[in-house]
Amino acid sequence: MLAGQQPIIVLREGTTRDKGKDAREKNILAALAIADAAKSTLGPKGMDKMLVDSTGNVVITNDGATILKEIDVDHPAGKMIIEVAKSQDQECGDGTTTAVILTGELLKHASNLLEKHIHPTVINEGYKLAARKAIDILNSISLPIKKDDIKTLKHISITAMSSKGSMASKEVLATVVVDAITSIADQTNGRTEVDLDNIQIQKQPGANIESTTIIKGIILDKEPVHEQMPRTISNAKIALVNQALEVKKTEVDARIQIQDPSQLQAFLDEEERMIRKMVDKIIASGANVLICQKGIDDLAQYLFSKKGIYAVKQVKESDMIKIAKATKAKIVSYVEELTDKDLGKAGKIEERKYGDDRFTFITDCTNPKAVSIFLRGGTEHVVDELDRAVHDSLSVVMAALEDGKMTVGGGAAAIEIALGIRSYAPSVGGRQQMAIEAFANAIEVIPKTLAANAGLDPINIMLELRSQHKKGNTHAGINIHTGKVDNMMDIHVIEPLRLGIQEIQSASEAATMILRIDDVIASKGMGSPSPSNYGGMGDMDDY
Ligand code: ADP
Ligand code: MG
Repeated sequence: MLAGQQPIIVLREGTTRDKGKDAREKNILAALAIADAAKSTLGPKGMDKMLVDSTGNVVITNDGATILKEIDVDHPAGKMIIEVAKSQDQECGDGTTTAVILTGELLKHASNLLEKHIHPTVINEGYKLAARKAIDILNSISLPIKKDDIKTLKHISITAMSSKGSMASKEVLATVVVDAITSIADQTNGRTEVDLDNIQIQKQPGANIESTTIIKGIILDKEPVHEQMPRTISNAKIALVNQALEVKKTEVDARIQIQDPSQLQAFLDEEERMIRKMVDKIIASGANVLICQKGIDDLAQYLFSKKGIYAVKQVKESDMIKIAKATKAKIVSYVEELTDKDLGKAGKIEERKYGDDRFTFITDCTNPKAVSIFLRGGTEHVVDELDRAVHDSLSVVMAALEDGKMTVGGGAAAIEIALGIRSYAPSVGGRQQMAIEAFANAIEVIPKTLAANAGLDPINIMLELRSQHKKGNTHAGINIHTGKVDNMMDIHVIEPLRLGIQEIQSASEAATMILRIDDVIASKGMGSPSPSNYGGMGDMDDY
């Protein structure tokens, strides 16, 4: 500062600022607390968490992504960890817990290196080299999946589901999941592509999980609007309308002064005339099914039922789009413009009852690439958790089919990576070597956590795993059910290659991003980010 000059204050009063070591330490602590909260849910023997939101809603889940989405975090670095889970979920639909735990562990090891006065930039460079090497190793131990290898796809589906509560019914669900993915898979220029938007999931409690089925078509949670309407229609010709088939009620209270009864009659007549006109237009198009995004007037309902038309109302926009795609119908905004060319086709439309709930099943559609999974389970909590398991499972089977490559789970790939990175580290040398070795130690958190969550002794398991891999048993991993080290290919614990690659990328990118921060400037009102607020979710010991 120049002598005699006043200091210039650039930050608003009340702004908190953590710099250098302080900022980094606090960020790492906050990130670690979040990662620790996810740890106890990893793997088939992971515990569930019960989440209660401010309105008292309860979610019981083992799904890392869901847990992280629901918990309210306001530390900026904690939020970044939650972003890791979100991006992993978007890219792969699975592996969120792994990515988050790995991020936490990379930061923990980085913190040890920082204490030894290794500069964050050096750590980041080492981590980047290690991540690249890890992906190379993962690629080199990956195995091909043949396009028609349904069995392998089912095992991949089961591995993804086995960490959720649906253990007993895995076979049935895996069959449904693989059937769904293979029936929507497209071949373009020799590449397999899967668009998950073609799969609709409809949930209905009240039956056992084994009753879950796949429907080649669309399921609407709607029933025909009028009791006299037919309950099934064969060779359906479907009109999709997003205009209200009723005379609009005004938003404001309007009063019409009527002087004599004939005026009232004229008013009602006009209303009726407008509705009849719309109904006639729909009938004239040749439609025998009407799916309306808005409401349908009582008179219109009656007229449709007289003509044997199956009509449903108040259908969600997303469902309208799915039906349009499945039946090749055009969604019409003005009934005036509806013609037979806009109609979609389906072999059958029928109402089905489940308990008190009624659904419309649209099957045998023009476009065969529309499938629905009708999820059943005892209670709402069960079907919700099932939904999450099926979501993960669909995503991994999609990745497996698209890429045609798999790796081994159960911690086997992680051990192989750790070994490979350790032997690579000396070739880099210098201080970066220490960071690369730290990466190898960090990735071992996966088998360690899997073992600890299964009630096994992580130290013994790690010794056995390392010795097996040194002997060349690339596929040696943890058999959660026997507590022994086993060949993961033999017990079918397999995952798509894309999943492992994405986990390493998400975690190393997030960890290096957090390490690069050396200044946290928080404006007033954010509160001073204090990591002591976190970490209340799990009894996470270090091992
Ligand atoms: P994520 O959110 O990371 O997918 P999960 O709770 O689904 O977390 O657990 C995934 C981990 O569980 C993976 O490392 C996977 O290999 C492992 N796993 C799944 N099934 C088995 C099994 N039968 N035996 C051992 N490990 C398994
Ligand atoms: Mg999983």
